[in-house]
Amino acid sequence: MSQSWNGTAVRLAFDVMFKRQWLAIPHVTVTDIRYINFCELKKAGCRAVVYDKDNCITNPYEDHISLRVKPGWDECLRVFGRENVLIMSNSAGSSDDKDFEKARHLDNVLGVQVVKHGGKKPGGHDAILQALGGKDVKLEELAFVGDRLLTDVVFGNLGGMLTIHTQPFSLKRDNRVAKSVRTMENALMLPFFRWLRHNRYRGALNERVQTHPLLSGAGLTRTEPLE
Ligand SMILES: [Mg+2]
Repeated sequence: MSQSWNGTAVRLAFDVMFKRQWLAIPHVTVTDIRYINFCELKKAGCRAVVYDKDNCITNPYEDHISLRVKPGWDECLRVFGRENVLIMSNSAGSSDDKDFEKARHLDNVLGVQVVKHGGKKPGGHDAILQALGGKDVKLEELAFVGDRLLTDVVFGNLGGMLTIHTQPFSLKRDNRVAKSVRTMENALMLPFFRWLRHNRYRGALNERVQTHPLLSGAGLTRTEPLE
């Protein structure tokens, strides 16, 4: 029920706090994946969607899609096709997952590919391209969806992906450290970085977080969730 120490993420977190705040600012924020307009996302040129797992599509450490967000998940599979939907987790498929047993189990249960990156986000961009094997796809043509700013959003932005930030939907089984860090990220860090963006770094920072090829002219979010 726990994840091992992620030194790279901690070092990068300091870099984000003091230098590259834009890395932790998502392009799009939604309550959960039912609010993403997948048809518009595809129309905008997105070729595949990569998801974080825990607290984004499943309850922490569970194997099935949360019933609450299932309408959004099903819509994503329908629009993009299973072969273009991936899961990139810091548990299954990561360095914590011996012989990728959990990842293989989830491949079968969820019917989509869990990326076997053997590391921890924010590393692993190459593994995503490999998992999409031979499609000549670029990271800029992908969307990354996750609930954590310092892992998921930073990971997506580092790779040049469109980043979609979701709110956690279950804190019940999450570990205490993850819970506290996430609360700090959402309640303090993101509002502060957004304030910086509007008040201190209008030029360069704005440009980096507000422009992305997949954002052009598309209404990527819904006002009502899919049911
Ligand atoms: Mg998560």
